[in-house]
Amino acid sequence: MTSSTSPSPINSITGHTHLFDKPKRDALFNQIKSQRGRLTTQDIENLCSEYSLTQEQLLRECLPIASLFAVAPVSHFLVGAVVLGLDENQHVNFYFGANVEFTHQPLSLVVHAEQSAINNAWLNGAKSIVKIAISDAPCGYCRQFMNELADATTFDILLPSQQYKLNELLPAAFGPTDLGNEYSLFNPAPVTQTVVDQSGVCGALVDAALNAYVPYTKNFSAVKITTFEHGNFYGRYAENAAYSPSLAPLQSAISQLYLAGLPMDAQTIQKIELVQTKGAENQQQVSEAVLASYANLPALETYSLRLTQ
Ligand SMILES: [Zn+2]
Repeated sequence: MTSSTSPSPINSITGHTHLFDKPKRDALFNQIKSQRGRLTTQDIENLCSEYSLTQEQLLRECLPIASLFAVAPVSHFLVGAVVLGLDENQHVNFYFGANVEFTHQPLSLVVHAEQSAINNAWLNGAKSIVKIAISDAPCGYCRQFMNELADATTFDILLPSQQYKLNELLPAAFGPTDLGNEYSLFNPAPVTQTVVDQSGVCGALVDAALNAYVPYTKNFSAVKITTFEHGNFYGRYAENAAYSPSLAPLQSAISQLYLAGLPMDAQTIQKIELVQTKGAENQQQVSEAVLASYANLPALETYSLRLTQ
């Protein structure tokens, strides 16, 4: 018999112990919010050193913090995901994500935690994904979403106590090449289009649209959420070969706003702009449906972008 020791904090979802006590978890949560859902290379080095962790161990330890970002008014089921990605200098960064749900709207509009984390990495310039840790097993939709990534055959999927490659979770997969698309998310086609008429849309929003991943509809589309006091948040359209797991630009931007710890309310949000490619528009109604979940927001402003082919 061994005598009992002082109790360790228990993750209520997995039953696993984790290292960060509540004050440390709260401090890290606030730091990550202030860094818009990221931990930098230096942050990661410091935490690994302070707690004697490998990067992979730290990634898993961050899951309970990632789950705190979830906004799940329908399911109340909080899911966290953290991507270990490499930036343009091959430096490791952690990109957080969590599920986002919308009241009184079709469930198909929600953002899954894995999408949120991958979107966060993509928008913040990550060049490759090495690992993704998830607080719960990825659903079929997310397995399909991850199959669109350039690193789909190589990255590790870490669950609280298991590890997989995507082809173990999604054998005989359908992917971009089945639709004749040789590119992928994080390996996009070079931008060859030029803007004929941007109709007064700001340059950063046009750039976001041109960097959308839209091999199937060619609707280069993006959203800008302007806040009164906390700067701007951009979202880009990320399509999927199976179509349904595509991430709409508005949801992409809302996910980023939530990763900064900000609410979608009239006190915070000054303006919401959607830009789409003329002749390929498909985001107006779905964006308005999502925004109908919130009270008293400014009306969606929509712009068309005329591009050369
Ligand atoms: Zn999912």
